[in-house]
Amino acid sequence: MKEYPVIIAGGGPAGAACAKALKEEGIEALVIEKEKLPRHKICSGILFGQTQVLLEKYFGAIPPDEVYCEPNTINAADIQEWNKEKGFFNYVWELPKNGIDFSKEYKNIWRNKFDRWLLEQSGANVRENCLLRNFSTDKGKISVDVFNKEKIQIDKLDMEKAREQILCKYLIGADGGNSQVRKILEPDWIKAGPEVVIFQAYYRFENMGELKDGSWNVFFKKEVGEMLCCVHRKGDFLTLCVGGFTGMNLNESMAVFKKFLSDQFRVVFTKQERVEGCLMRLAPPNLGKGNILLTGEAAGIIYLNGEGISAAIDSGYRAGKAVARAIKENKDVSLIYAEMTTDVLDHMKVCMKEIHFLTE
Ligand SMILES: Cc1cc2nc3c(=O)[nH]c(=O)nc-3n(C[C@H](O)[C@H](O)[C@H](O)COP(=O)(O)OP(=O)(O)OC[C@H]3O[C@@H](n4cnc5c(N)ncnc54)[C@H](O)[C@@H]3O)c2cc1C
Repeated sequence: MKEYPVIIAGGGPAGAACAKALKEEGIEALVIEKEKLPRHKICSGILFGQTQVLLEKYFGAIPPDEVYCEPNTINAADIQEWNKEKGFFNYVWELPKNGIDFSKEYKNIWRNKFDRWLLEQSGANVRENCLLRNFSTDKGKISVDVFNKEKIQIDKLDMEKAREQILCKYLIGADGGNSQVRKILEPDWIKAGPEVVIFQAYYRFENMGELKDGSWNVFFKKEVGEMLCCVHRKGDFLTLCVGGFTGMNLNESMAVFKKFLSDQFRVVFTKQERVEGCLMRLAPPNLGKGNILLTGEAAGIIYLNGEGISAAIDSGYRAGKAVARAIKENKDVSLIYAEMTTDVLDHMKVCMKEIHFLTE
């Protein structure tokens, strides 16, 4: 049975940053990613100021041209909230951290291209199509139970042939907002806080009407939806995003939002090209237990309103550094990781307090 010092479940920003930190410390890690890369991820695809700082700091670069979509830049001054009384006015999406303010030139990216680029930069050893199903611990080792999805395709649903066990000393759950690692560690997770559902649609359009190109338009009006709704251009598409608590009919919310944009701003939509959805759990953060760490959205680390890439990169990188220190100093990794992420969790609390996402 193959054994690694560290297995990272999930090849998103948190997993890539964790792998990068481990590589710098000369520790071998395997990233297991359930999808074939590049994989799509529901996202508005904005690199905020802090994200760019962290990319420079941890990866030494911001992404190359091919990762961006048109318009390449969204200026923070062009993130606009709208209401009937005031019309458009500036909306603050990103807050200063530890007194430091960030660039207001945000980048508009394709997530599939960005995530693949980031994973490549990490120098990680990656296994795609490899899904973590379960894990168990015994005598200081973690046995990770995975499915090789490629084998399932070849062997026509012969599940047994696709199952495999990989051993490791440390397991990092960087497997996103529906983390399997967290579900196993914290069976009550799904009951620990409200669940939010998010729905995003990509529309081709003939005319943006009165919506300003290069602006990210945010709406908090009951007439539009229960939660923040937003729209901005990505290449040939307008991406519309609506959210609500579980049980809401988001198809209906999307139709209402689209009609609102047509009626109020004279946007002319043509074809709906793609729809996607996800679930977000608003439970308190969980950094893991023993030699199993959670990071990024799996840990519940996200700065509202959904500024999650920076939080994922920052916490993922620290998880990798925490493992390296624990190995070198023969110390408890979860204590080191908790200590190292204090300011990230503090910033999360500030964001929760300052930024709203429910309609008034
Ligand atoms: C609609 C929407 C818009 C958003 N817009 C922005 C934005 O503009 N800017 C921003 O900064 N943030 C945004 N976010 C938040 C951001 O997308 C996330 O916070 C960020 O992607 C979290 O990164 P992560 O690495 O923790 O998880 P993810 O990016 O979700 O990566 C997790 C990876 O784990 C893999 N995986 C999952 N389960 C398993 C398994 N069992 N085994 C193996 N692999 C597995 C997944 O395939 C995935 O590749 C948005 C979120 C939503 C929902």
